[in-house]
Amino acid sequence: MSIRIGEAAKAPAFPKAAKKLLDNTQLRRNVRRATDTIRNKRAKVVDEMPDWEQLRTAGQQIKQRTLRNLDTYLEQFEAACTAAGGKVHWARDADEANAIIVGIVQSHGQQEVIKGKTMTSDETRLNTAFEAAGITPYETDLADLIIQLGKDKPSHIVVPALHRNKSEIRQIFLDTMGITELGHRPEDLAAAARTYLRDRFLRVKVGFSGANFAVAETGSVCVVESEGNGRMCVTLPDVLITMFGIEKIIPTFDDLEVYLQLLPRSATGERMNPYNSIWTGVTPGDGPKEFHVILLDNGRTRILADEESRETLHCIRCAACLNACPVYRQTGGHAYGSIYSGPIGAILTPQLQGMEHSTSLPYASSLCGACYEVCPVKINIPEILIHLRRKIVESGGAPLTERMGMSAAGFAMQDSGRLGTAQKLVQLGRAPLDAIGLPGWSTARDLPDIPKQTFREWWKQR
Ligand code: SF4
Repeated sequence: MSIRIGEAAKAPAFPKAAKKLLDNTQLRRNVRRATDTIRNKRAKVVDEMPDWEQLRTAGQQIKQRTLRNLDTYLEQFEAACTAAGGKVHWARDADEANAIIVGIVQSHGQQEVIKGKTMTSDETRLNTAFEAAGITPYETDLADLIIQLGKDKPSHIVVPALHRNKSEIRQIFLDTMGITELGHRPEDLAAAARTYLRDRFLRVKVGFSGANFAVAETGSVCVVESEGNGRMCVTLPDVLITMFGIEKIIPTFDDLEVYLQLLPRSATGERMNPYNSIWTGVTPGDGPKEFHVILLDNGRTRILADEESRETLHCIRCAACLNACPVYRQTGGHAYGSIYSGPIGAILTPQLQGMEHSTSLPYASSLCGACYEVCPVKINIPEILIHLRRKIVESGGAPLTERMGMSAAGFAMQDSGRLGTAQKLVQLGRAPLDAIGLPGWSTARDLPDIPKQTFREWWKQR
């Protein structure tokens, strides 16, 4: 098995990467400005929904029911999609998925693919597999195009180039699109991207997409987006390949009613996405002649098996938790070393990839709970972070300062004399705490005032 989450296995630990990024004031300014804008838009459109909490509960319960019967719904999807003319492939891991997709493209003698926005293909590193096979992938989502042309990495789930500002994007386009003239307005940049992509949309015979939802009952696939590039990718080519993680299944078409309200409001602060594409198999004379679906596991069944963290698979990738997270808002997404950043990345990457590769990520949180408050499907991220931290401690992988602190506390608490001495030391203030092994802990946290008396001293005086 080659379970792979992009290049997360080779990424440096979060504190090391974050320290470097905190020095980049331009990046921090870009991230702060962009997340503020999305947060404000989200708050406005969520406030106008009187039944928002009920919608969140419905979104949570549909996912809980789906995961309890995931095998049944996946097979139901396969049967319905096949009956409608689609071909369903099952991939256990990243390599298996990439091999199937490359094989389909090669079987049609094609060397180019147009791609709509999909994080799952970043997860399997599909573009690398394409390039190794002599196939050129063209990203068509504007943010993904910026990332591809700039040889950059995504830093946000919904807006992958969120860390870039207008003038940086303009320079990337000038350097890579073969143009010499380009205005400075957002519409000038959008027009340049449109011109660059239009020819590829019309020429390339194979399209590739992810999916936001896949309906078991009908075998339909749903993609929501803001630009219209996704719709071009899923309608213009002769062959369409769609890959998504097995958790994207929902039982019925009616369930879309809940998620198509929750997702746009949480992701981009829109009441509805401008483009909602839903298709079922193939239709002669309309759209692609051949349709393939890749159902990707790549570690998901491992998460499914853990009852305490299973709800990680509820995620509909709206990124509201990233925009709300005080840690993400300081560091940006690259510090997480994974295509999945922010609070959801801190729980998803270690579980998918294997805890041994990402022991620092569950600690990349202040546990303030802002992520839980905004999550449209009520994933209790702080609880899962604590669950993962416990697993790390049990396997002996906790950070050195935490291990030293806990060892010191354990040593003191085993003996009343030692405990008394420790309490007296603590009454002297913060310095002894730092001296016994918590350096740095109290520089970023408010240490509560130390009581003048211990409980025993107070008790004796009564
Ligand atoms: S965890 Fe919740 S808030 Fe975060 S991306 Fe997933 S659905 Fe959105």
